[in-house]
Amino acid sequence: MAFLRSFIITLAIMAPSFKLLANAAVTPRSNKCSVWYDVLKDIQNEVFDGSKCGEEAHESIRLAFHDAISYSPRLGGGGADGSIMMYPEIETKYAENAGLDDIVHRQRPFALKHGVSFGDIIQFANAVALSNCEGGPRVPFYAGRSNYSQPSPDNLVPAPFHSVDQILGRMSEVGFDSDEVVALLAAHSVAAQDQQDTSMKGSPLDSTPSVFDGQFYLETMTNSPPEGVFRIPADRLFATDPRTVCLWQTFVDDHNSMVNQFSRAMVKLAAVGQDHASLYDCSEAIPAPRRLRNHRPKFPYGQSAKHVHYKCTEASFPQAKLNHDSSPVPPVQKS
Ligand code: CA
Ligand code: CA
Repeated sequence: MAFLRSFIITLAIMAPSFKLLANAAVTPRSNKCSVWYDVLKDIQNEVFDGSKCGEEAHESIRLAFHDAISYSPRLGGGGADGSIMMYPEIETKYAENAGLDDIVHRQRPFALKHGVSFGDIIQFANAVALSNCEGGPRVPFYAGRSNYSQPSPDNLVPAPFHSVDQILGRMSEVGFDSDEVVALLAAHSVAAQDQQDTSMKGSPLDSTPSVFDGQFYLETMTNSPPEGVFRIPADRLFATDPRTVCLWQTFVDDHNSMVNQFSRAMVKLAAVGQDHASLYDCSEAIPAPRRLRNHRPKFPYGQSAKHVHYKCTEASFPQAKLNHDSSPVPPVQKS
């Protein structure tokens, strides 16, 4: 009995410590950012079908890029200002934005409901979408964009049929170098297309469209993509160009580099046309992504390193680190 009494007293003394530990496990919410937890709950349920990395996540990532990159020091546009959501009747009619009207209209009511700006919700939904993908980055999120914008000019988004020179030229106008462009293309690891080839509507750009992984970089380096996967011509050009192939190849098996370099480039992209110093950090509201389970990208069925004709000449191809299982890959799940 004496032992039991002493044990109870010890528990009573430790109780405050347990309480402290329990509190420490919960991310503290700053008042300034509290609205984003409400937005998070709504978009995870109502836009992302319960925190999924599916079609709506893919389109949200695409939307964030298209809104932000629409800035040119020569031609105008406000970058990541939400203009595509402010003027959907204009900007979603541009050929480069074909198919984005659905996701604009899915997200827009939640910006109005919670009183946040269109530019903010587009970048927030992008970060949440990425966190829904296995292996995805936890991209920092900065809030505070104004809701003032003007319609962006047309033809500022790099197109799938553009050359490497054209895309690097356009991106350099906004301050991105070739390494950052290669890193941003990691978004195609969790992507699908409807507009490039309407006979393959919903076809993904790699065989793991719900996983943020090096599979996209490997598959674009091989002779042909797996059955059911759509290859964007510009991606293939970047995968084989001497200026970009080395970093491309690095991302095949270096997931940490892929995540870190993508995240840095994404933060920069989210501030295009904005005064970054005037924004405030609400990254606390972005969920932690699920860890990548399989670190070994797999060659398309019937292909191996000998089907990679354009490799980096300054580093050996990481074939030993890849999955050489020659069994057929199951049919690709369309989003
Ligand atoms: Ca814009
Ligand atoms: Ca993937």
